[in-house]
Amino acid sequence: LVQHFPNSLEGSIFLPASEWKSNRLVVDKIKKVQEFMGLEVTGKLDSHTMNLIQKPRCGFPDTAEFSTFAGEPKWGKNILTYRILNYTPDLTAQDVDAAIKKAFKVWSSVTPLKFIRTYEGAADIMISFAIREHKDFIPFDGPGGTLAHAFAPGSTIGGDAHFDDEEDWTLKSEGINLFHVAVHEFGHSLGLFHSTHPDALMYPVYRKSDLAAFPLHQDDINGIQYLYGNKKY
Ligand SMILES: [Zn+2]
Ligand SMILES: [Zn+2]
Repeated sequence: LVQHFPNSLEGSIFLPASEWKSNRLVVDKIKKVQEFMGLEVTGKLDSHTMNLIQKPRCGFPDTAEFSTFAGEPKWGKNILTYRILNYTPDLTAQDVDAAIKKAFKVWSSVTPLKFIRTYEGAADIMISFAIREHKDFIPFDGPGGTLAHAFAPGSTIGGDAHFDDEEDWTLKSEGINLFHVAVHEFGHSLGLFHSTHPDALMYPVYRKSDLAAFPLHQDDINGIQYLYGNKKY
């Protein structure tokens, strides 16, 4: 199903700086994070590293060699269904529907994939808002920290995307932009893992972006077209 469940790195990364001290394991983890984030690998928790790891982020761990999940899971069909199971109180249902639709459109605009919304039964990609423990053994962590997570392509929970409803979801650049996070999470739902390219949307750290601009970087396009090919005209 999914090899890359959040591991102990996620929990320890949010320790207060005073608790890090010179623990060997912690130093190794800092090095891994720095390597993954494309920073100078010092093993020291300098302000630049601290800055990056304290930003709101996606909940997957930071140690991956490839931009796909292990074993390269992907959908064996180009028409995929999605279903929105519930809503956040932060936005109207229409706004959530529109943000999700627009997020899928980003990926369908550069691949042969098509996304069809369904309203009952099992869809390939089940979308929900949840808090804390929500029956997948990857509990959310309250405001900040992990914003959302999504599972690699597969049956049952595979492809599903969960959004932490203790975040302040918005459609603006204030708070956490649902469209922006949804595009990133659906990248996972389609089989992309995190990118080491700091400008890629699949980079694990959430940054405010120019909402008027197309959200994918060429690195994201290369990744998704590696899995599904180019759009057929
Ligand atoms: Zn992610
Ligand atoms: Zn979940």
